[in-house]
Amino acid sequence: MSVVGIVPAGGSGERLGADRPKAFVLLGGRPMVEWSLDALGEVCDRVVVAVPPGHEEGEDTVVGGESRSQSVRNALAAAPEATVAVVHDAARPLVTADLVRRCVDSLGDGVDGAIAAARVSDTIKEAEGGVVTRTLDRSRLWAIQTPQAFRAEALRRALDVPAETLAAATDDAMLVEAAGGRVVVVEAPPENLKVTTRRDLELAEALLGC
Ligand code: C5P
Repeated sequence: MSVVGIVPAGGSGERLGADRPKAFVLLGGRPMVEWSLDALGEVCDRVVVAVPPGHEEGEDTVVGGESRSQSVRNALAAAPEATVAVVHDAARPLVTADLVRRCVDSLGDGVDGAIAAARVSDTIKEAEGGVVTRTLDRSRLWAIQTPQAFRAEALRRALDVPAETLAAATDDAMLVEAAGGRVVVVEAPPENLKVTTRRDLELAEALLGC
């Protein structure tokens, strides 16, 4: 088994309003992506990072694509040896090696993907034009995060779709599901948050104690 970490870090991070791409914004004095590389490095044989043009460094970085899933596809193409691919966003620096390991370990027989997910505590409703049309059954809802571990072959097949389909995907599991794959959730803490705004960055620093 060859476990390869795939880190999409090719986004611009405009919503953060920083002077550099989000993955390279300093968090506790280190580029944000490095927190994720530490956790993945404990579990994976190798980690490939998709970065914005001009940020390539060494053989384990590739240039990202137009969309997040295109960046994942570019990074996976650089790891033909992978039998398991663990996709993890650079924007989730609070990931732990334990969570990465639990996702990989959940790839049992007949499972194509095992994805980190937190139980939903809010009531979730659908609305159209501001008017509620439906209240969903909260007991069945999960807020999906990364890491997401996949049988590499299933992920390669799922990513082999037109650029518009990749651009519309908000995570890789939905592409694996669309290709007929079986995906399971792995319960994860809500603290494994995604850094989008400056407030998220401050919260992440507080949670990391730095
Ligand atoms: O923008 P968002 O926070 O949803 O991005 C999630 C992750 O995908 C980030 O780590 C970002 O760097 C990465 N990304 C990428 N290539 C893109 C867009 C986003 O690798 N074209």
